[in-house]
Amino acid sequence: MPSDLVIVYHRQPYEEVEGEGGEILYKENKSPNGIVPTLKALFGRVEHGAWVAWKEAEDPATPDFERVIEIEDSFGKYTVSRLPLTREQVSSFYHVTSKEAFWPILHAFKERYNYDPVDWPTFREVNWAFAEAAAREADKGALVWIHDYNLWLVPGYLRQLRPDVKISFFHHTPFPAADMFNVLPWREEIVRSLLECDVVGFHIPRYVANFVQVARSMFDVRVTERKPVKTSDVPLGSALDERSQPTEIVLDDGRKVALAASPVGIDVDFIERNARSEETVRALTGIEADKGDGTLLLSVGRTDYTKGGPEQLLAYERLLKRRKDLHGKIRLMHVSVVANRSMTAYAEVQANLEQIAGRINGTYGTLEWQPLAFISQPIPFAELVAYYRAADIAWITPLADGMNLVCKEYVASRVDGDGVLVLSEFAGAAVQLTAAVMTNPFSHRSMDTALDQALAMQEAERRDRMAAMRESVRSEDIRAWGDAQLAFGQRAAQAA
Ligand code: UDP
Repeated sequence: MPSDLVIVYHRQPYEEVEGEGGEILYKENKSPNGIVPTLKALFGRVEHGAWVAWKEAEDPATPDFERVIEIEDSFGKYTVSRLPLTREQVSSFYHVTSKEAFWPILHAFKERYNYDPVDWPTFREVNWAFAEAAAREADKGALVWIHDYNLWLVPGYLRQLRPDVKISFFHHTPFPAADMFNVLPWREEIVRSLLECDVVGFHIPRYVANFVQVARSMFDVRVTERKPVKTSDVPLGSALDERSQPTEIVLDDGRKVALAASPVGIDVDFIERNARSEETVRALTGIEADKGDGTLLLSVGRTDYTKGGPEQLLAYERLLKRRKDLHGKIRLMHVSVVANRSMTAYAEVQANLEQIAGRINGTYGTLEWQPLAFISQPIPFAELVAYYRAADIAWITPLADGMNLVCKEYVASRVDGDGVLVLSEFAGAAVQLTAAVMTNPFSHRSMDTALDQALAMQEAERRDRMAAMRESVRSEDIRAWGDAQLAFGQRAAQAA
């Protein structure tokens, strides 16, 4: 059935599990706080929806699964079109081109950029296949919403196949300035494709500004509309703040592209329910009994050079060196989950983290006191919420991060209204969470002072700051993001 909303997202919108009789069952994602449920909920607003994702096949010409299936779950009925890709194609377009070439540039790590293994024809071929699948599902004038940089060429191809559809594209990462982006030799092809969209979406105004700068470095693009950004009450603003944001550009052929910024949020109701659940309260009692009067610092993230793990552990080592009064009374739980062990860049970071962690515990640990719990295994979300509730300080200091959801989850979990968030000013979330203790992870002095400030903060101040952050996380939750982005797309459809 043709759909009036087609979501193109590389992951499937459910988990496939094998039933007792060997049949395939489609179960809703285990992680209900991600964006997948929010996107699926949008299908409830339209006549019929479709989702395009890839699925591994030995021979894409004759996949051993049905390409297009109809799903019926708590979100209603929708179509899922599964694009058969070989393991080699996935590895090339996703693990190599996207993660080794695009990811470092998006996060401004020029020195990590690895051009040599990129197979550009395969990247084009896979993106073309996504565009074809979306074109097949879209009704006349439908809205096609494409997600993330691994599908950068889809808008351009889709425009060739289906000039009638409305195209919206959302970046889940940062978008860098021209000096950085233009390292990519395929820059013109990528930007040309993005300029075929009706709406290009980002988390925060800075990424919009960077995109405009990149587009202007190659094409005659004029900004025709600009709006002031809600000014924060922080006098100097933080590293990612912008005073105003372009909302529309016009190309030399007169075509208009709308530019939208809305920060991805979290499911606050779901997290608060979790934080108050009997299970969490029971776990919390156990963690608090272990902790006693001590202070628990918590850091959670993926093992990635963008997350600044080694810089943070070194800051902790400096803290233990200069503050003997804290010995025996403080503990850092540093969760750094390895998502992809096969990538050398990530293996390097992991080895570095393990080395510093070993040195810290070796230097300062005693039989009674281990200053650092270094954890590489993922913690199930329900358990994580209990740690969020127990942690006196959440210490989130990425070197670059499109948004960062962990800090928002910490805030939403603090139904007791206490807790301190120390946040890197290079996380997109910093633009929103202005009441956090901001820090610059590139500066030892800033990392050290922020930690001292957090450790010394009195309860009244902690509660004031937390109240402000809780309000902001609630008002810009995941549903607000979905609504805002869908509204941008629908407005573009009506304007046509
Ligand atoms: N997460 C988790 N268990 C862990 C570590 C992380 O469930 O042990 C989840 C965390 O709750 C959050 C997500 O992983 O929802 C990480 O999202 P974020 O935006 O902070 O970082 P990303 O990994 O997307 O860069």
